[in-house]
Amino acid sequence: MIDPGHGGIDGGAVSPSNLLEKDIVLAAAKELARQLTATGRYDVRMTRDSDVFVSLDQRLGLSAKHGVDLFVSLHADSLPEQEGAQVVRGATIYTLSERASDERSRLMAEKENASDLVAGINVVEGADDDAVKGILFDLMKRETANFSADFSNALVRKLKPAKVLARTPHRSAAFKVLKQTHAPSVLVELGYLSNPEDEKLLNTPAWRKKVAAAITAAIDAYFSKRTAGAAGP
Ligand code: ZN
Repeated sequence: MIDPGHGGIDGGAVSPSNLLEKDIVLAAAKELARQLTATGRYDVRMTRDSDVFVSLDQRLGLSAKHGVDLFVSLHADSLPEQEGAQVVRGATIYTLSERASDERSRLMAEKENASDLVAGINVVEGADDDAVKGILFDLMKRETANFSADFSNALVRKLKPAKVLARTPHRSAAFKVLKQTHAPSVLVELGYLSNPEDEKLLNTPAWRKKVAAAITAAIDAYFSKRTAGAAGP
């Protein structure tokens, strides 16, 4: 399942020349879906394929409903001028952790988690925590976290030769959309809309093709390893 962030009333980050995150990530998601479908190996679903608002709970609900095997959320960040908007660039891969890997990632998750607030939806934290409890839940969570880490490593390996990664390409934070026990999930920040070079690239079909090809290669690598593992020695 490909999850283009934001949409509709929630535009997400905005670049200096008014490119909207919601449009950038939808275009990238569509290209990724096209390439994945072309392999003939995947049943590709999207949480949205047009400019509509989808709440974080709805995204999680769609993932659970379809029982997906992998969940890839696509975003594009923006930094204020004083935090290095001119120099900080490149793609970052985020996995879930309650404690963020660093302060920027924590703020990042806070910003992305506020998506529902933009649309005026009341967020009840931990409302469905009671439904699934206990050891089994923890085990599932741990297994899913391991697979998410596997996949994020594959992403770093495949994106590195494309020279599109940020200096610290793997970070973690408490992103709500990654709180899934059934499916390994990662959130890819494709680049920084606040950086002039990234802004130009992010809006280029050639760049989208290149990045989608690298993500497709990572997805292939991830599933071939899992399939090999399931078959046993
Ligand atoms: Zn976003």
